[in-house]
Formats: sequence, structure tokens, C-alpha cells
Amino acid sequence: MKIETIAIHAGNRVDAATGAVIEPITLSTTYERGEDGGYPSGYMYTRIANPNRASLENVLSKLEYGVAASAFSSGNAAGGAVFQALLPGSHVLAPTDMYHGLRNLLNVVYKGILEIDYVDMSDLQEVRNSIKKNTKLIWLETPSNPLLKLSDIKAITDIAKEHKVIVCCDNTFATPIFQNPLKLGADLVMHSTTKYLGGHSDTLGGALVTKEKNEFWDRILKVQELAGAVLSPFDCYLTVRGIKTLPYRMRGHLENAKQLTSFLKSNPKVEEVFYPDFGGMLSFLVKGGEAEAAKVANSTKIFTQATSLGGVESLIEHRATIEGPNTKTPRNLLRLSVGLENIEDLIEDINSAIN
Ligand SMILES: *Cc1c(COP(=O)(O)O)cnc(C)c1O
Repeated sequence: MKIETIAIHAGNRVDAATGAVIEPITLSTTYERGEDGGYPSGYMYTRIANPNRASLENVLSKLEYGVAASAFSSGNAAGGAVFQALLPGSHVLAPTDMYHGLRNLLNVVYKGILEIDYVDMSDLQEVRNSIKKNTKLIWLETPSNPLLKLSDIKAITDIAKEHKVIVCCDNTFATPIFQNPLKLGADLVMHSTTKYLGGHSDTLGGALVTKEKNEFWDRILKVQELAGAVLSPFDCYLTVRGIKTLPYRMRGHLENAKQLTSFLKSNPKVEEVFYPDFGGMLSFLVKGGEAEAAKVANSTKIFTQATSLGGVESLIEHRATIEGPNTKTPRNLLRLSVGLENIEDLIEDINSAIN
């Protein structure tokens, strides 16, 4: 099956009991046992498994060409489960240009538990030289946030394999429509489903998809089951619903982002534009400094000034102020999540805010 068909069908089951074409939301936390003490439905308790979660995990795993998936209560919970599944003392390589929430999770919660080094993942020699005897995980995020830099997933996983290091790639920005890290050699792929997969800025969630069921995947599943950061049935339902239109939404995001990029590149008030030629995210530097950038972010009418991304509505954000005092993000950088409004309206909005 092709991606549009998978997106619509792989997360849904016609309800056997009622014939409902759309799978109902199963809110029950507990399931009836059989006379033999077993669980004839296959379900026991909702922290362990739930039908809506199983459906979401099925579509996620197919979209990313994996063999299994696990849906978490947030993107950070999904990423955190990978860190938690490592043994204390493990060495982790993470990108310098990394989503700040996960970087803070490593720096604050895993400080003293994991050994962490940040490397420029676009420099393969640096990646190779940074691997140590106790390196267990390479964390990738490409395109990166907020500079939208690309790293070579295939080349890095080739290096990792030589040293038996697990590679997990945060694929939130690219989505399975534009990039499939498992096909390029990664072992795990992570998503914040809060963003493009949910697609409507109304449900928080995260996911992991694995290339193979192995010991490390079993550990991740144990972390999820026992630590309990599972996605609720209602959020699973919303995410499945969002995924159905993902391929079509991503075409619209791409088309709008491309046109906005060429508009910005030709604008004399813009210093530099960062766009990786796919996806709906772009960043640009406003000539001047933080004050000039803030003025633009404060003046748009259609772009809402807010963090996050991946919804149908356009967002604009001054990234350095959300990332906190230690950020290396340029003070005159604005990040756009280009939505699905009419592109002429979006260009006009940015144009009048800049001038
Ligand atoms: C938002 C985001 C996360 C964290 O996801 P939450 O759902 O907010 O926990 C991780 N990585 C990237 C690239 C993100 O944009």
C-alpha cells in the first residue's frame, strides 16, 4: 500500500460489535478475565495496552517502515524512554543543535546518570572521533531545530554500526512523508505527534518506532509500561484522525513554505533564510537585532506568535527567548511554522510586518 492509503486505513478498525466505521474510543481502564483467569480479549489494563493505542501504533509503525511502535504521553516522554532504557554510565552523543526540551532533559534529569557529549552531526569526522568505549546511543535530529541543518543519517548509522551503537532519530520536523530514518539505517525513530502527525495543535503526544524487536526495544516497552507515560485513548483517537490527512497536509505545508522562502530571500530586510527544501518549517534572520525581530513577530495578523509547530495554522516565534539564557540561537532569528492558509495572505502578512 502507498502512503496515503496507509495513513487512512492502518490506524482504524471497523468495530466488530456495532459496525461503526470509525473505531470507537475505548475508555475502560480494565478488561474482563476469562474463567481460566486469562484475558480473552488480549487486553488487561490500559497502562499496558489499549485498543486505540494499538491502532495508532499500527499506523505509526507502517508509516515509518518499522516493525513496532509505542505511543507516549508526549514527545519528551518518548525520547526520555530511550534515555531511561540505557544503563547508568552509558555515553550518549547528541547534536549541538537539538530540541531544547530534550537537551534539558539530558542536562537536568540525566546529569550524573548518563555521560553526554554534544557534537556537530554534520561533521562525520567529529562524530567518529567522539565515540568512546561506553558509547551506547547516538541521538539525531534532522532537520535540526531551529537552524534546520541537515545531518547524513545513512553515513552516521554506518559509523554507529561499526561500534554497535544504537541510533535514534527525532523525525518530528521531517515527518514520515519526507524522511524515513529506519530505511536509512537508524534503529529507532522518535516523533512528537503533537506537531505534524496530530496536525491541529490540540493533542500532546509522542512515539517511538523500531526497526526490529530486540532486547533494547523490550526495555523501552518496560520503561513505558512501568513508568506509565502512555498516550490516553482520546489523544490516540485524535492523533489517528490527524494522520489520515498527513500526506495531503504536508504537500500544502511544503508548497507554502517554498513560496514564503523565495519571498523572504528577495526581501532587503531579511539577512538570511534557513529552509531545507522540504517540510513546512523555516527560520530567518531579520536585519538588525532582537528588537527588529521582535517587532516583526509582534506585527503579524495571521501568523500567531506562539511556540510549537505542525498545525494547520501558521505560527511565528522568537526562538532565543523561548530557549532560555544558554541558547546559541541568534537573537534576530524568527522561526515560522508555515500553515495551510492561502499563501498570498501569508506573504502579505509577513510583508506588512517586516515593513
Ligand atoms: C516538540 C518537539 C519535541 C517534544 O515533544 P513534546 O510533544 O512537546 O513533548 C521533541 N522534538 C522536537 C523536534 C520537537 O519539535
